[in-house]
Amino acid sequence: MMESFHLVIDGKLVAGAQSMPVINPATEVSIADCPRADEAQLQAAVAAAKAAFPGWAASPIDERRAALVKVADEMEARLEELARLLTAEQGKPLPKAMEEIGGSAFILRALASLDLPEKVVQEDEGGRFVEQRYPLGVVAAITPWNFPISLLMVKAPPALLAGNTVVAKPAPTTPLTSLRIAEIFNRHLPAGVFNMIVDGNDLGGILTAHPDVAKVSFTGSTATGRKVMASVSSLLKRITLELGGNDAAIVLDDVDPKATAKSLFEGAMVNSGQVCLAIKRAYVHDSQYDAICDELAELAGLAVVDEGTQQGAQYGPLQNKAQYDKVRQMIEEAGERGTVIGGETLDRPGYFIRPAIVRDIDDDAAIVREEQFGPVLPVLRYTDLDDAIARANDTDQGLGGTVWGSDKARALAVASRLQTGMVWINSHMNINPFIPMGGAKQSGMGQELGQSGLEEFTQRRLVFVPA
Ligand code: NAD
Repeated sequence: MMESFHLVIDGKLVAGAQSMPVINPATEVSIADCPRADEAQLQAAVAAAKAAFPGWAASPIDERRAALVKVADEMEARLEELARLLTAEQGKPLPKAMEEIGGSAFILRALASLDLPEKVVQEDEGGRFVEQRYPLGVVAAITPWNFPISLLMVKAPPALLAGNTVVAKPAPTTPLTSLRIAEIFNRHLPAGVFNMIVDGNDLGGILTAHPDVAKVSFTGSTATGRKVMASVSSLLKRITLELGGNDAAIVLDDVDPKATAKSLFEGAMVNSGQVCLAIKRAYVHDSQYDAICDELAELAGLAVVDEGTQQGAQYGPLQNKAQYDKVRQMIEEAGERGTVIGGETLDRPGYFIRPAIVRDIDDDAAIVREEQFGPVLPVLRYTDLDDAIARANDTDQGLGGTVWGSDKARALAVASRLQTGMVWINSHMNINPFIPMGGAKQSGMGQELGQSGLEEFTQRRLVFVPA
């Protein structure tokens, strides 16, 4: 068992009203008793954030920036300790956990460097219109279990830089590293500015509907995103929703099959497929189909799936039992409609599933139509490019997508027809803290990262100043 963890409420580290076990998904053994808040503690966290808001909002932005930089400094100084904790609760290989913590500190620094200057929008002999940005109040930041820290870092730092205060709530199966990071925020910010509670999947709705929460920044599934949207509607709160994806890769007829298969495999299996922007369907031209499927099958066979602390582990377990059961069932059903290569479970404790390639399957199969969020890639054949684009767009999701081809102009023409928020050509998940990202259709609403991500935590005010 690990040392103790606390909720962070009003500048204090407090015990939970209850506690709950956190399971290491590689061993199925509990690694810590995690504090779990009750509704009174949620109320206390929101009240603390509300009380801290006027002072924090009035402080100079450079002071807020300096405090955030100190958080990044401490995260970097404690990189290995935080990464080990992340691997223990999330399952990802330790080098990937180090990347997540180091990358999160990098994102924090980058976002803390942004600014919200007044802008003159129009000026003539009559006067000028000045655009100002001011903070909204208490922000609820709700995160899922696949990238618990990176996804917290695209929310809390811009919310705080803009002058808001925060009540954060991590996913119940990955709360521990988030609680350590909350302690770090708390150490460098005034009491009540950053609060974190943990629940058992029972307090999210109360938090989003709370009348003193002005804005909800939510990352999670589309199903929960709909509930969040409903819960904020009566008060017309501001929301940012980063939801599920079913990202298609379109592979043109002029690719190098070996290199492309390698990139597709990495894009699909990264974090054991538990990535909103993972490649979740590949449409491959008939002339390349068998070669690409064979390469993918070989890579699936070679993949090293193991506990994240083991040297050489490339892929860890699925993060929790519910997700493991869901993905196993999807793979089983896929085997009834197509050919599955790989996808075996490991004969030992832990939620391990080996990478699976599914070929010769129809577009209506659940493994193609629904987000798997696991190490599975269905590969679909096409002969007509217009048809492939139509099939890629035939979904109510629209997060990202990729196009693979030697002729970049042709690849760009294809990318320009995909109904998504982001598309990468011959690369995948090229994410930059200064480039905003967000989903189309039911993959979300609003943007995170970059200047627009920061501005989503503000209200725009236009002031007319006469000449
Ligand atoms: P989830 O929707 O089950 O849970 C996400 C968070 O919402 C958790 O903290 C959960 O406790 C909380 N929650 C549960 N019920 C709530 C309610 N009624 N109101 C408010 N909050 C509530 O999602 P998950 O299974 O943890 O995460 C996987 C999903 O997240 C996938 O669909 C994935 O695509 C998506 N995701 C999207 C992005 C993106 O940037 N678009 C990034 C990562 C993950």
